[in-house]
Amino acid sequence: MPDPGVSIPAAYGGVEATPEWAAEIKRLAKARNAVILAHNYQLPAIQDIADYVGDSLGLSRVAAEVEADEIIFCGVHFMAESAKILSPDKRVLIPDERAGCSLADSITAEQLREWKADYPDAVVVSYVNTTAEVKALTDICCTSSNAVEVVASIDPDRDVLFLPDQFLGAHVKRETGRDNIHIWAGECHVHAGINGDELTEQADSHPDAELYIHPECGCATSALYLAGEGAVPEDKVKILSTGGMIDAARESTAKQVLVATEVGMLHQLRKAAPDVDFQPVNPRAACPYMKMITPAALLRCLTEGRDEVHVDPEIAAKARLSVQRMIEIGNPGGGE
Ligand code: SF4
Repeated sequence: MPDPGVSIPAAYGGVEATPEWAAEIKRLAKARNAVILAHNYQLPAIQDIADYVGDSLGLSRVAAEVEADEIIFCGVHFMAESAKILSPDKRVLIPDERAGCSLADSITAEQLREWKADYPDAVVVSYVNTTAEVKALTDICCTSSNAVEVVASIDPDRDVLFLPDQFLGAHVKRETGRDNIHIWAGECHVHAGINGDELTEQADSHPDAELYIHPECGCATSALYLAGEGAVPEDKVKILSTGGMIDAARESTAKQVLVATEVGMLHQLRKAAPDVDFQPVNPRAACPYMKMITPAALLRCLTEGRDEVHVDPEIAAKARLSVQRMIEIGNPGGGE
């Protein structure tokens, strides 16, 4: 569901995910001593061939711990960068380096430098969907699971610059009740496309269903508002990170669950709880960048050893500090 203002490069194509393709991918990965990681929003064929599937932070942790010479990161570029930041000694490859992220692109290092100059004493809190350069200018990173705790841990008298997601920022502001939090007006065009109207319509037509909402979705604020109004029963609404959704799915006793996040997530949820009927709030909410990691791109990656992810060591060292502070506060879960 590309935003009209966002231009998505054409993905590598022409290769089907056949059993022969899968066998060749496994053979090449073994020959390279490479481990394949896939984000929850990847195409089902890519998720199914991966050694590990998860959310961005969980995968970065696997990348740091796993015994392999190479990490093949099937996700978007900032995630592969995070894996490189946390495991600087490993070779990290992404099957298509053009797989960007509209949320990470909504603030550049230059823009953050200018914003910081306006609030020299502020503490900078960045959601993990940011480039390595932005993380290097950040005091504490956060995920959707610990954003509220991270901001609550900061001296109440100090200004906070929260970036780049305005919906997560609004959620944190409401939960902490802080007036001195300044929120960058960035958004993910995929999540912003899941709106309150669609949610109300779906909730009305599926009155017995539970609702899983990812806080980066544009619908999170209206979902909480609707729950407060009694339009959606409060106990049926769960605000969860992607990792939290999988845990909740395994324990769910609901017959049907409406899911407000990127549609790739449904593949893992259906595998985790096959008896539950998971339905997307917006079936068109597919991240076009995530879907650039095609069977052809993965084959090219393993055949040619491309595209390698490089992060300047000085930037990586500073970025690592802000990520480590995030891991120390609360339960960071897994990010997007
Ligand atoms: S779904 Fe949105 S936030 Fe996530 S990678 Fe795609 S563009 Fe970025």
